[in-house]
Amino acid sequence: MKILMIASEVDGLVKTGGLADVAYALPKALMAMGHDVKIIMPAYQRLNEHWQDWPSQPLNVQLSYFEQHDVNVRLGAHRGLPLAMVEHSPSFGRDGIYDDGHHAYVDNPYRFSLLCKTALEWCKQSQWQPDVVHTHDWPSAMACFYLAEHYKADPFFAKTRSVLSIHNGAYQMKCPSHWGERIGINNRFFNATDFEDCGDLNILKGAMGFADGVTTVSPGYAKELMTMLGGHGLHEKYASLALPVQGILNGCDYDQWNPEVDTWLPAQFATPNDGGKQTNKLALQDEVGLPQSTDKPVLGIICRLVDQKGIHLFIPVAKELMKYHDCQVVILGSGDPLLAGQLDQLQANYSDRFRFINGYDVGLSHRIEAGCDAFIMPSIFEPCGLNQIYSLRYGTLPLVRCVGGLKDTVVPVTDLADNADVATGFMFEDISVDALLWETVRMLALYKERPDVWRQLQDNAMAQRFDWESSGKQYEDCYQRLLQDPKTSHNLL
Ligand code: ADP
Repeated sequence: MKILMIASEVDGLVKTGGLADVAYALPKALMAMGHDVKIIMPAYQRLNEHWQDWPSQPLNVQLSYFEQHDVNVRLGAHRGLPLAMVEHSPSFGRDGIYDDGHHAYVDNPYRFSLLCKTALEWCKQSQWQPDVVHTHDWPSAMACFYLAEHYKADPFFAKTRSVLSIHNGAYQMKCPSHWGERIGINNRFFNATDFEDCGDLNILKGAMGFADGVTTVSPGYAKELMTMLGGHGLHEKYASLALPVQGILNGCDYDQWNPEVDTWLPAQFATPNDGGKQTNKLALQDEVGLPQSTDKPVLGIICRLVDQKGIHLFIPVAKELMKYHDCQVVILGSGDPLLAGQLDQLQANYSDRFRFINGYDVGLSHRIEAGCDAFIMPSIFEPCGLNQIYSLRYGTLPLVRCVGGLKDTVVPVTDLADNADVATGFMFEDISVDALLWETVRMLALYKERPDVWRQLQDNAMAQRFDWESSGKQYEDCYQRLLQDPKTSHNLL
């Protein structure tokens, strides 16, 4: 199959979250399966050194009656994957990806719609006829609408199917309705079934109805999207789709995340007790300035500092842990300055046990995964989550909330540890400080009192595999099914 991936971020180039991991690892897996895959993304200014010498293909792209633009598509490669980048300096020649560090760019609907329309025009001009156009979250979702509406009579795309993957349904791009006419959405689609949402234009909501297939990144999240609690306000839309949302668990890129070969680590290790993991623990404590001790459990967190990740639940828990329990905490994250301020305060109060590193640091994220004993993910919602998957591979037991992909990837140990032969971590259910505290204390007790069970759980965890081969195969099946079915007739919806 010829598969076009349209993405706003790609791991190794720009990344703000798990979408980037998928936009790199899935094409890699599909190419290994023999498919002809191309990725197209914006030529962000911060990536200048990558694309400025690449050959360019000029295009004139019409977004709507009012908007026609000259753009360049730069043609190159990223770690062996064919990559095209859309150069349009009024849109992408700025420092940020989605925002200026404080506020989202107001013209985001337009910038990313231009990416989508250019991607399709570029296929036409190159005479490269995609079987599948795979889009990711709201920034590329408009390609599904354009295919179904702007190109519905175009024989070039007659056989092309569109897929929209939801990596995080909370980000929908709601914007004032006037953007509609600039990005080529006819007013007749500004209705409650399509793009209208409480008087605004909602790009994810509208575009999703025009995708031939909608997927998301775990079976658990696919179910949650259909519920009032988990659908981010769009549960009725998800429920009304012609085909149900398919949940395909993200794979893990084990070329990057494997403690046996990980070059970010001071020592590689294959089992939790071959000495390597302890070396990493001591080195991590040294790196972040905590007292070195192999006995004290070290708990880690790596995430964007946003409400979704449940850090506001962990802050009061951390205060209790610091007062009454002998453990260390290392947190790496950036985002909400209010949460960062509270974490700074904890560090000031408990400087011998609590470390907060405010920033984005890939190397340190690997060393935290390797050097900690446990990894905490108290997410309010979590479409898939990658860090718990990495944690498993590094023998760092995940403690997660029972939600979305976390529920699908961690097997919680029971109160009596009578499932120690299969369990891989710890889980709590309620969105409450008490529930998280209870489970954390239970985990610390197990660490101290039952090293044999802890070791068994580490072995189980390290043996888990969530590889891209199997996820890639499921995407391949999804594409094939869509190609066999007649095209979804959106106008009848
Ligand atoms: P989300 O996509 O919601 O941010 P995921 O768990 O799916 O959450 O993916 C997050 C990815 O981003 C992981 O690869 C994680 O290691 C990485 N990451 C998040 N914050 C940081 C940070 N501050 N420094 C380094 N890597 C980070």
